[in-house]
Amino acid sequence: MALRSMDTLNVEGRRVLLRLDLNVPLKDGKVGDETRIREAAPTVRTLAERGAVVIACSHLGRAKGKPDPTLSLAPVAPILARLADRPVLFVPDTVGDGAKQAVAAAKPGDVLLLENLRFEAGEEKNDPAFCARLAALADVYVNDAFGTAHRAHASTAGVAKLFKDRAAGPLMAREIAALSKVRDHPDRPFVAVVGGAKISGKLETLQSLARRADTVILVGGMANTFLLAQGAAVGKSLVEAELVPMAKEILAAATGRGASVVLPTDAVVAPGPDAPGRTVSASAVGPDEMILDIGPETRQRIASILAKAGTVFWNGPAGVFEKPAFAAGTLAIAQAMAASPAFTVVGGGESVAAVQQAGVAGKLSHVSTGGGASLEFLAGDVLPGVTVLEGGA
Ligand code: ADP
Ligand code: MG
Repeated sequence: MALRSMDTLNVEGRRVLLRLDLNVPLKDGKVGDETRIREAAPTVRTLAERGAVVIACSHLGRAKGKPDPTLSLAPVAPILARLADRPVLFVPDTVGDGAKQAVAAAKPGDVLLLENLRFEAGEEKNDPAFCARLAALADVYVNDAFGTAHRAHASTAGVAKLFKDRAAGPLMAREIAALSKVRDHPDRPFVAVVGGAKISGKLETLQSLARRADTVILVGGMANTFLLAQGAAVGKSLVEAELVPMAKEILAAATGRGASVVLPTDAVVAPGPDAPGRTVSASAVGPDEMILDIGPETRQRIASILAKAGTVFWNGPAGVFEKPAFAAGTLAIAQAMAASPAFTVVGGGESVAAVQQAGVAGKLSHVSTGGGASLEFLAGDVLPGVTVLEGGA
């Protein structure tokens, strides 16, 4: 079933409950990074310009079901107002009388921002009574928070069912379109580049990509376990020895169906991330050394594979890119993505940061900010916050 888009909803003069991802980093009560607010602002503005009463809501941080002044959304309101270019009234309440009164007093075109939804225990519990109170504030529901769509919480799942008119916002729609293309109908050859620290957190995504991609390129810390599975000595590198059998299974599954798996053939190694690195063959890592980046030969090989790809999905840095001495591999992948004529999608917190650091975000087809939700989607999982929108009227 197709997702209903916000564009098809009649919102004029109606109250729209708008679930956003305003989960921004806070430092000493100030917003540390405005990216998520900047991304959400056009949705707010569009709805307001279409004459809706916009009731924006989000979670922020790990509030444990009760008010925590250090996690208030209040500091977000003035920034949202500036970026959406309209006044935003912060409502220090979620579903109580304060919220009801603010909504009752609002006029078409007004924007309200409710307090952190996770100040209420009912939010993460997807509690029916809380859902009903939240739904009672509005006539229409729009979810533009893809990053929490993998959680069945009140504001993402339970509340949506209580609206006949429910739809995906533009950010959500873009994420689903790009990730569906990668997962369900990629232009071939489809190349998956998977790296980052560990296999364990991404096992299902890795398995799914190994079933779907024509070429799976393994880099970063997780490649170490695969090198180990192939009998290489990896010294003191980060490995998950208990996952060696799983790594063997993934290798066998991919190669068994004719896909190729590419592992690093050279590496930048050092006794630790603060020591200077040296480049060695992947078969010549010393017993006291750690693999901290892919080497130049591997970088070249990846670039030439990406240049011939139809679709590329990349998650996970190729090295400890936070240290300039071990960033070359990750930046080279970012550059190769940008240069590739393929449909290119990057996902994951650190990988997206690396793409931004390389200054190439604008050259990729899609930068997925969904983090865990993106990986779960690619793993083939049903995302509760997405499925519920498919059932809209
Ligand atoms: P993402 O957030 O993009 O999904 P991850 O969280 O899985 O990526 O992994 C990012 C981390 O992986 C980075 O902090 C990086 O330092 C680390 N990493 C990458 N390669 C290695 C390596 N060879 N050894 C240790 N850590 C690594
Ligand atoms: Mg990460």
